[in-house]
Amino acid sequence: MLYPPERLAHAQTAITAAGLDALLLTPGSDLRYLTGYNAHALERLTCLVLPAEGTATLIVPRLERPAAEASPAPGTGVAVIDHVDGEDPYPLVRKALGGPVRAVGLADRMWAAQVLALRAALPDAAQRLASEVIAPLRMRKTPAEVAALREAGAAIDAVHARMGEWLRAGRTEAEVGLDIARAIREAGHETVDFVIVASGPNGASPHHATSDRVIAPGDPVVVDIGGTMPSGYCSDSTRTYVVGTPPSEFTGYYEVLHAAQKAAVAAVRPGVSASSVDAAARSPIADAGYGEAFVHRTGHGIGLDGHEDPYIVTGNDLPLEPGMAFSVEPGIYLAGRHGARIEDIVVCTDGGVERLNTLGTELVEL
Ligand code: ZN
Ligand code: ZN
Ligand code: ZN
Repeated sequence: MLYPPERLAHAQTAITAAGLDALLLTPGSDLRYLTGYNAHALERLTCLVLPAEGTATLIVPRLERPAAEASPAPGTGVAVIDHVDGEDPYPLVRKALGGPVRAVGLADRMWAAQVLALRAALPDAAQRLASEVIAPLRMRKTPAEVAALREAGAAIDAVHARMGEWLRAGRTEAEVGLDIARAIREAGHETVDFVIVASGPNGASPHHATSDRVIAPGDPVVVDIGGTMPSGYCSDSTRTYVVGTPPSEFTGYYEVLHAAQKAAVAAVRPGVSASSVDAAARSPIADAGYGEAFVHRTGHGIGLDGHEDPYIVTGNDLPLEPGMAFSVEPGIYLAGRHGARIEDIVVCTDGGVERLNTLGTELVEL
């Protein structure tokens, strides 16, 4: 089961262990993780009040009540109450807490307006981050969650496998991007979260989106794409393509990158630190003289959010455990010239690692 009802009880144990009295979760992935409710983020207050003990209360605007009741949330034992437009909903949070509280954990991505309103409604409660409690739970994926990520990986692989239909000289990045976006949905995603088509010099900007630049013969093109499946789980995969014959300098460093990405994937197993996976990607790139050109961490966790714990970065000594899923995505970026990145989502398993993107990582010439 993707959203099992016992998660609320596990979270309550963690709330107590963290010395918190309750979590207050506005719409976002923590709320969805705990209750299955994929709520709209609005200026109207939707908030799950999850005390360390006892019943959780889901406060929703009255017009959202049908959606909340149709979600898996009531099946997890959550009591749904509503408020009407014009009514101050914050006293309902106080009431749902049942008494004075000393410390609450707020959803990390709660709007500032709501954080301040909660401070006013609960003036004696210290505010901390809900991620203290929820991130360690979300980071350790169940087999059902890994299966959902595997399905997302296969869906985005199917889009990359079709790149030759769209990516060619004479078209703009934006035109290619529109075709890719349609294919992301056709492959089974519910939403298109990002489409990066970075040709030629644009490839040196890791988070370039698309532009009106016309793709030219010989251009390397970095294509990084992802979406969210109906399950709520995300895909994210990068391949670098060349349209025609690339510059020889590019072919040279692509081989360095290719070997580095493979080495980092192969380094993943239980007990090794997140930082050592980063080092496995970084060392061969630095040894080849491109250390300064690899300007970001090696990877990020993925699940209900596209970026979440664990981060594969220098200084993160977290030992990997089976069920942790994250990207391995080193890149080399030469400003004004071109760039390359290779990204697979992988999951740490009992025996080592499973790649959830299974296409080859060689340079694809179109
Ligand atoms: Zn990124
Ligand atoms: Zn990506
Ligand atoms: Zn990524």
